[in-house]
Amino acid sequence: MLFSMSAQILDGRKVREALLPKLIEKISGCSVIPTLAIIQVGDKMDSTSYIRAKKAFAKKIGVSEKHIQFPGNISQEKVIDAVRECNTDPNFQGIIVQLPLPAHIDRGLIINAIDPRKDVDALTAVNIGKWSEGKGILPATARGVQELFEFYNISLKDKKVVVVGRSELVGKPIAVMCENEGAIVTVCHSKTPDLVSETRKADIIICAVGKPGLIQARHVKEGQIIIDVGINRKENGILVGDVDFESVKDIVAGLTPVPGGVGQMTVLALFENLADIC
Ligand code: NAD
Repeated sequence: MLFSMSAQILDGRKVREALLPKLIEKISGCSVIPTLAIIQVGDKMDSTSYIRAKKAFAKKIGVSEKHIQFPGNISQEKVIDAVRECNTDPNFQGIIVQLPLPAHIDRGLIINAIDPRKDVDALTAVNIGKWSEGKGILPATARGVQELFEFYNISLKDKKVVVVGRSELVGKPIAVMCENEGAIVTVCHSKTPDLVSETRKADIIICAVGKPGLIQARHVKEGQIIIDVGINRKENGILVGDVDFESVKDIVAGLTPVPGGVGQMTVLALFENLADIC
């Protein structure tokens, strides 16, 4: 008789809880209570709920935050002015601009207006240069994924890693992190002609696209680790990842759930970054 084996669930909530005491200790050792400025333009529902999660986590670990929200039609100059005010305000140790921004605002200009010393998301050109060389802090999702691997003793050295998605915010930093950890990395994207043949060659698949059900049983094989970074809200309000969890869970060796996977780690890593720059 054949038995199907279920994948090990790589549990972001559990890892976050396990790493929490060290973060709280680090925060309490800072010379001031760290304060994070969170700049939001508009009122996109997902952005608002991510910010709510960050605020709740800040409270839990003894960090202050100030949520600065502008209407969606504010001018780019006014947002840059706000960023500059936060740069010079000694009360703020860290600044994040919640992405995405409305189309009339140039993301690069806004992000690069942040003082790199307060750039807790590590997305300014100065900080991209640093983490590309394996120095300084990593963008939060990449750091979160790195810590998830560490917790489960999954070494990236010499592993074939396929990263699906190549955004500046998520896919690229994750690919660089994996490469810096010694992995052999392939990056796939919307123009990749045969995604199935690429993902099936991998030891580890990390998917950061934003398309529910993109990764199906045919994309995976036995023994693989699947990290689902995608967070997609279905019409009924339920959150799902990019991976069809049900169809791959009896094939692969390890899998992150959505919710309860990488999203949990991203929030933790953001505040670890803040503690590091304080
Ligand atoms: P994005 O739209 O900026 O980038 C998407 C990437 O996917 C692009 O590089 C594109 O080329 C690629 N892509 C699109 N269609 C594809 C296809 N059919 N096959 C292969 N690649 C394809 O999105 P993003 O900001 O990188 O976010 C990606 C996902 O990750 C979203 O669901 C977002 O909500 C989620 N996200 C999760 C976390 C977390 O903490 N878990 C953090 C940030 C973003």
